[in-house]
Amino acid sequence: MNKNWQPQTRAIRGQMDKTQYGEHSAPLFLTSSFTFNSAEEMAATFAGEREGIIYSRYNNPSVDELIGKACALEGTEAGFATASGMAAVFASLAALVKQGDHIVATRALFGSTHQLLTNFLPKWGVTHTYVEPDQLETWAAAVQDNTVLFCTETPSNPGLKLVDLEAAGKLCKAHDLLFVVDNCFATPVIQRPAEFGADLITHSVTKWMDGQGRVLGGLLLGTQEVMDRVTAFCRHTGPAMSPFNAWTVSKSLETLHLRMDAHCRSAFALATWLEAQASVTKVHYPFLESHPQHGLAKRQMSAGGGLVSFELAGGAAAAQRLLNAAELCTRSSNLGDTRTILTHPATTTHSKLSPEERAAVGISDGLVRMSVGLEAVVDIQEDLLRGLAH
Ligand SMILES: *Cc1c(COP(=O)(O)O)cnc(C)c1O
Repeated sequence: MNKNWQPQTRAIRGQMDKTQYGEHSAPLFLTSSFTFNSAEEMAATFAGEREGIIYSRYNNPSVDELIGKACALEGTEAGFATASGMAAVFASLAALVKQGDHIVATRALFGSTHQLLTNFLPKWGVTHTYVEPDQLETWAAAVQDNTVLFCTETPSNPGLKLVDLEAAGKLCKAHDLLFVVDNCFATPVIQRPAEFGADLITHSVTKWMDGQGRVLGGLLLGTQEVMDRVTAFCRHTGPAMSPFNAWTVSKSLETLHLRMDAHCRSAFALATWLEAQASVTKVHYPFLESHPQHGLAKRQMSAGGGLVSFELAGGAAAAQRLLNAAELCTRSSNLGDTRTILTHPATTTHSKLSPEERAAVGISDGLVRMSVGLEAVVDIQEDLLRGLAH
């Protein structure tokens, strides 16, 4: 692949080498294992003395193609693809920490990542401290002698708070911490954490990267040094992505730039429009001037993303009425789809948090999260108006 090509060109042209048939589109390698021409070749491949594919839990041409394209987009050296986003998040932490280690994390993480830090990692003696995403001055005080890793996510779900990636990168450098970023909400089209010193980036490709709600998948992308550790962990613990899902997502990356442009344009239009609706008390969207971190958004993101969240004056009842009135928008917990999706976080994705925990991450009872799809904006507006009019 030509390193001078723009990212969107690389996402389209970064295909695997052609097979003997000269196919124009990438073939799908639905095979669990691979064969060798001789015992010696097999031995050399196992010893790592020659490049070769052994077994699809380790690697597979369809999966490798996806990883190559994703690395080109994120600007990272190496990667591993997993069966889900959470498999990637778990592997990112499990591979890099040991008993007695401590993690500093920004609050307002994806629900299952929060569960991992609070309910599972402590079983293995790994502790954490949460810091507020927008209180940079408190971060250094949370670092302990046994802190090895800083993990964050920006924009956050569903409050769309931002974390200053440049400041986080500097903190990690100053304290010799591994810097891990979940870049699922922004995608590499909008924000590239590696430019701010991230050692490891995780993705749920289930969301915008696939963008059509058809597959579950995750990606781990990072420096060669960190990925060597993560890949060894993944090869032996088995979270590998299926070749079929990799082939599907690889195809989706060819349109990622176009889709994100359209998602972001519609999301900005709808966020602006929602701000003018009487029953909406607050709209959260990074590229709105009313967003408290608007300046930061403009510095580290090239667009505001495809998610908008907003608060209704009527609380939970009004939010549920809006969801029930929708005829075009879908009631679902997923996001990053061609179809616009409405979620009521307080009663679904974040219902396992205590009311205090929800308040701490800014999830009020009247908050609605909207993943803006690719339908015409006027049709989405008409659908929302039906529910807002009550
Ligand atoms: C969805 C999501 C995940 C988990 O991904 P799955 O593919 O559902 O396992 C992790 N982080 C963020 C920010 C997400 O939105």
